[in-house]
Amino acid sequence: MTLPNGASDLRAKCKFCHKNYATSTGGTGHLRRHMHKCMPAHGQVDTTTQTQLQRHPDGSVRSWQFDAMHARECLARYIAQTDQPISIGESPFYKELITYAYNPQYKPVSRTTTRNDLIRLFETEMDDLVAEIQL
Ligand SMILES: [Zn+2]
Repeated sequence: MTLPNGASDLRAKCKFCHKNYATSTGGTGHLRRHMHKCMPAHGQVDTTTQTQLQRHPDGSVRSWQFDAMHARECLARYIAQTDQPISIGESPFYKELITYAYNPQYKPVSRTTTRNDLIRLFETEMDDLVAEIQL
């Protein structure tokens, strides 16, 4: 259907909440913002964020997507293995390093979150060690 101003009346239907959204506004930002909210609300992994390419040591290429939970676990391992301060994740200088050199999507991690991640990491490692000893 064509509207009086010549624009199309096509509507986008969300496959998660089944609501209809206008597509004649000239942009897709509202659709993208909806997906960022709607996918997690429906138990889906938000795959609409931009991926980057990553090269394996053998030269092959694969897509890479930022995973905040995995990044926090890596931060906890880095702190535990190199005796860094628990507050390093919230340091503006650390944020500057990570966002500039590695990942513009990095969000600072609070000391409290890092403390909880370190405890979780310790418990996981301890469970693995106990399981290994019991074999
Ligand atoms: Zn939706």
